[in-house]
Amino acid sequence: MNIGLIGYPVHHSLSPEMQNSAFRELGLNYKYEKFNVEPGKLGDIICYFQANGFKGFNVTIPHKETVMPFLDEIDEEALAIGAVNTVDIKDGKLIGYNTDGKGFVNGLKQKLIKPISESHILILGAGGAARAIAHSLYLHQPMSIVIANRTTRRAEKIIQECLKGDGNALTLQEAEHMLSRFDIVVNTTPIGMHPNYNEIPLDLRRLNEGTVLSDIIYNPLKTKWLKLGEQKGAIIDNGLSMFVHQGALAFEIWTGRKPNVDLMKETVIKQLGGSYVNR
Ligand code: NAP
Repeated sequence: MNIGLIGYPVHHSLSPEMQNSAFRELGLNYKYEKFNVEPGKLGDIICYFQANGFKGFNVTIPHKETVMPFLDEIDEEALAIGAVNTVDIKDGKLIGYNTDGKGFVNGLKQKLIKPISESHILILGAGGAARAIAHSLYLHQPMSIVIANRTTRRAEKIIQECLKGDGNALTLQEAEHMLSRFDIVVNTTPIGMHPNYNEIPLDLRRLNEGTVLSDIIYNPLKTKWLKLGEQKGAIIDNGLSMFVHQGALAFEIWTGRKPNVDLMKETVIKQLGGSYVNR
């Protein structure tokens, strides 16, 4: 069985090795391969997948929204997020899912000392990843969700569209001042990502010890922001857990089997290479 990954550009993706290692370990005859698909060529690649018996595909930037009109069915969570990252091809029908938010939450849960339902949450950034994460956290009925973004209008849009209006939008400066109020703080901006190792998305002066600090960046595996948080007694969670868990959920959708998440993690770390890790 074949599984595709479509994106533009897609050459840097770590998913093929990660998924193929998990298929091999379970003795599944699946092969995951990437396809560089220019905007406007989505219809062609989907016809190719259907004609060649593909079992499904992953979707990454810039196709996560534009793929939706090509699908026969879209599950509730993907509809609420407004983006699809996983497609299952079942009896010729294309069914869309979004595993990003749930994958994030599955990874985060392993670090939590109190449930999401008892937590006040701050999300930094209001792009595609923030939409998925905010919606999935919202489904766990937290005490409150605040989204802080450079462009607050985009944060307000997520609150209206994905959280039924049940949240607050702030500037990054306002969030910095209120930092001690939150139990979980998530960075979804690319600030601090390779090669900009020295940048941080938010000053941590007001961070409380025991706060869960999550950065969805996985290159480097431990951003400067996470290192600073750790020094202040935060519980840290890096972007590898979201990446691996969103992939594990997609794996289950295609195969009906649970993959070895630890093996998937090790495969990604190996690909990132020792020199990137914890730099
Ligand atoms: P996106 O849609 O482009 O959104 C990026 C967000 O970051 C926007 O809200 C943007 O603010 C903000 N931002 C960017 N540069 C900024 C700066 N210099 N100062 C302040 N704010 C800034 O991106 P995305 O798809 O959500 O992805 C965001 C990050 O998550 C990337 O680093 C990506 O690699 C990572 N990611 C990780 C995973 C995982 O599995 N671990 C999955 C998806 C994404 P404005 O709205 O003001 O422009």
